[in-house]
Amino acid sequence: MISYELTAHQKQVKEIVHWFAENEMRPISLLADQLADVPDDWLKKVNRLGISMSTSSFGEGEMSKDRDKKKERQGNRLAVIASEELGWGDPAIALTLPGPGLGGPPIQHSGTPEQKQRFLSVFSRDEEPRWGAYALTEPEAGSDVSGLQTTAVKTDGGYILNGQKIFITNGRRASWVVAFATVNKELGRAGHRAFVVEKGTPGFSCSRVADKMGLRASETAELVFEDCFVSAENLLGGEESYRTTASGPSGFRVAMKTFDNTRPIIAAMATGIARGAYEYTIDLVKKEYPKHGRQFYLAAESLACIYQSIEAARLLTWESAWKADLGLPNAKEAAMCKAYAGKIALEVTSKCLELLGPVGLENHLVEKMYRDAKIFDIFEGTNQIQQLIVARHLYEPFAVRV
Ligand SMILES: Cc1cc2nc3c(=O)[nH]c(=O)nc-3n(C[C@H](O)[C@H](O)[C@H](O)COP(=O)(O)OP(=O)(O)OC[C@H]3O[C@@H](n4cnc5c(N)ncnc54)[C@H](O)[C@@H]3O)c2cc1C
Repeated sequence: MISYELTAHQKQVKEIVHWFAENEMRPISLLADQLADVPDDWLKKVNRLGISMSTSSFGEGEMSKDRDKKKERQGNRLAVIASEELGWGDPAIALTLPGPGLGGPPIQHSGTPEQKQRFLSVFSRDEEPRWGAYALTEPEAGSDVSGLQTTAVKTDGGYILNGQKIFITNGRRASWVVAFATVNKELGRAGHRAFVVEKGTPGFSCSRVADKMGLRASETAELVFEDCFVSAENLLGGEESYRTTASGPSGFRVAMKTFDNTRPIIAAMATGIARGAYEYTIDLVKKEYPKHGRQFYLAAESLACIYQSIEAARLLTWESAWKADLGLPNAKEAAMCKAYAGKIALEVTSKCLELLGPVGLENHLVEKMYRDAKIFDIFEGTNQIQQLIVARHLYEPFAVRV
């Protein structure tokens, strides 16, 4: 049986992160949106505090009351509990918090012990914040990543990469990027490889940072590989892991496994955006709407529907994270929570703007939340793609073998 009550440790994490979101993120939220950047001194300060964007940064687990039982893994549940609060605070700033970000999970579950040590140990509480990034998307390969065009040609001691990546979160500021390329386009997914490409590697550069409607403070970069030599030591998992193609982690599996861990985090942030808009709006409705008038009852009905959809999104997200902590397959649940939370975040922020009336439209937190929410319907796989993933798990004819 699942308990819906947070443990003492989970409550503590939620409270601390909420305090941070309210007192450190919200005060700079609109400024960061206008600047399309997060101030450097703010990033240095949070780096020293050790607040980072990684599934392990909120703790891994706590001792079971039963001393004979093993320590229970809780990293995914803690990450979604914390991410909802960060999304409530400001999702663009949350995505800019120092840490390995989306690049962390592939290294965690597919890197060799030496690679984990080399790439994950760079994130420390010193003056200089650092980031990791994850580079899969290309102009010809978004939803359908089997069409990867970036090539990796084997050479003495490593590979030569050529190609372009688009929409890469923190791609310009990252110390390293987990980049996907193909060693043979004819092999399709079996030809995919994941490389860790370090900043400053000759032939690796950032060509542009996108100017977006929402999540403006989060850096979204275009990256270019031009005859870029990457040592074989930076092939994620090492060459051996790609030889065992029947059961070993192909580059495609590395890419997809990342999403099973990160989609619940994105869903939790979307839930946090929706909750932020709801809380703001309900306060205003209580103050401004004449009690017991027709307008008040109409608003109450809308707010009740909003509340239910936020609760539903949270429960789907928690289920997915709970399965991940138990080591159970969660691809279907991760897709469901991402699809649902992304959809309701947009609906809720739109409804809240409607309830706020003209006041909501002008340089306003809820107006920003509406722009931010749209992107949660797109990145980490669009809503349509999440529905396809769910369908593949439900109906055999849609199943895809990888
Ligand atoms: C702010 C932001 C940050 C991002 N960060 C990263 C990052 O860090 N790393 C990274 O690798 N990528 C990142 N992305 C890229 C993101 O994951 C892709 O944009 C997304 O996967 C969609 O790909 P696409 O843009 O090529 O759209 P397309 O795949 O071209 O899709 C266009 C439309 O067609 C629909 N569609 C496509 N195929 C199907 C189908 N089979 N059935 C039904 N409908 C379909 C889609 O749902 C969508 O509506 C980011 C994107 C944004 C906007």
